[in-house]
Amino acid sequence: MVNILKERRNQVHRKGKEPWVLACEKSSVAGSVSQRACVFCGSRVVLYPVADALHIVHGPIGCAAYTWDIRGALSSGPELHRMSFSTDLNEMDLVHGAEMKLYRSLVELIDTYQPRAAFVYSTCIVGLIGDDVEAICKRTSAEKGIPVLPVEAPGFAGTKKDGYKAACNALFRLTGTAPVDDVPPHAINILGDFNVAGETWIIRNYYERMGVHVVATATGDGRVDDLRRLHGAKLNVVQCSGSMTHLARSLEDKYGIPYIRVSFFGIEDTAAALYEVAKFFGDSAMLDRTRALVREEVAAIMPELKTYGEDLKGKRAAIYVGGAFKAFSLVRALRTLGMRTVLAGTQTGSAEDYEQLRDICDPDTVIIDDANPLELCTFLKEQGCDVFIGGVKERAIAYKLGLGFCDHNHERKEALAGFIGMRNFAREVHATVMSPVWRLVPSSGVRERREVGV
Ligand code: SF4
Repeated sequence: MVNILKERRNQVHRKGKEPWVLACEKSSVAGSVSQRACVFCGSRVVLYPVADALHIVHGPIGCAAYTWDIRGALSSGPELHRMSFSTDLNEMDLVHGAEMKLYRSLVELIDTYQPRAAFVYSTCIVGLIGDDVEAICKRTSAEKGIPVLPVEAPGFAGTKKDGYKAACNALFRLTGTAPVDDVPPHAINILGDFNVAGETWIIRNYYERMGVHVVATATGDGRVDDLRRLHGAKLNVVQCSGSMTHLARSLEDKYGIPYIRVSFFGIEDTAAALYEVAKFFGDSAMLDRTRALVREEVAAIMPELKTYGEDLKGKRAAIYVGGAFKAFSLVRALRTLGMRTVLAGTQTGSAEDYEQLRDICDPDTVIIDDANPLELCTFLKEQGCDVFIGGVKERAIAYKLGLGFCDHNHERKEALAGFIGMRNFAREVHATVMSPVWRLVPSSGVRERREVGV
């Protein structure tokens, strides 16, 4: 029996059990120990890969520690993003206010590190004491001659998705502040890819081989000067739609730049993301180059995928990820390997996302919004899973239950995007599912349920 809190019962659905009801996009229920991160964390993960910017957390040291070096976001140049700065607020700061502490910290850090811009994150406590962060940013910006951007993200003020929005608002303030006369006609921005394990480089390389110019990548391997030119592109290609659709909409409203939602996970979705861009520009030579690229890349990985697929056929997978677009791609990628998704959940999916997820999943798949560890454990056992695909918080759950785990979150060290990423994904899933180590782990019941054919 799955014991779900009364207030959460309409956030879980089993496909086939009609009527379809799935509540989402609401604050986590107090006491449910959600897997979801806070508003501040949402903003930090989006902005963190901007490598030549200063990132300062205005709050107690715990907030900065929680998000320090949180993504495996690589940079081809400066690495200031990997430093974590905090105003380290204490009791006296809360009583007397900490605006001057923030001002002095900014001045010292800008003088020391000479960043191209600074992002100042407001945390829960700043939301409570009411420091005027905007005014301090304005003053420092005027004195130091660089953009100093407030990121309004007190942890309690909504869900992780509100943090994404705060990050997009900060990025949008940079947009339009540099000339774009030299941008060629076939130019795009890649939004919502964070260069985890070098994935932005893989995707960028595909587009460049097609003959498409990339103006800016937001925010993987991001640079402040590129982000100031976001308005120079003809199309925004949005990969992690949950985090960056707000920025894409703002660019559409102000500059008339359309956007498409894509995914670079799995063969089908990567190919579709490339073809959609080629079709947008309506250039037949570009379309030919895209066809040749897809043919060549798929041919290079297919023999290895077939070998893995022989062992993985019929295995059962659970997915719990941040955004729904990644979940769609994972369901399809697992199908390519002959596997079946029996549990699929996200931290930030919308009603529209969950309908799409329901449509692509098989009957009896459990679909879950904003889960907690107890629910995940119970469903993993009940569904008899072979592998759990998630992030750092899901890893411990999988290992404690004695089942395989594949990290598909921002801490991963292996590039999983693009065609080569599909090969790496298949390799990782195969290695963990087929590992003999699970036979040595004390039983949690999950394997027995699998073996009796649940
Ligand atoms: S912003 Fe608030 S919820 Fe987020 S880490 Fe800091 S104290 Fe915790």
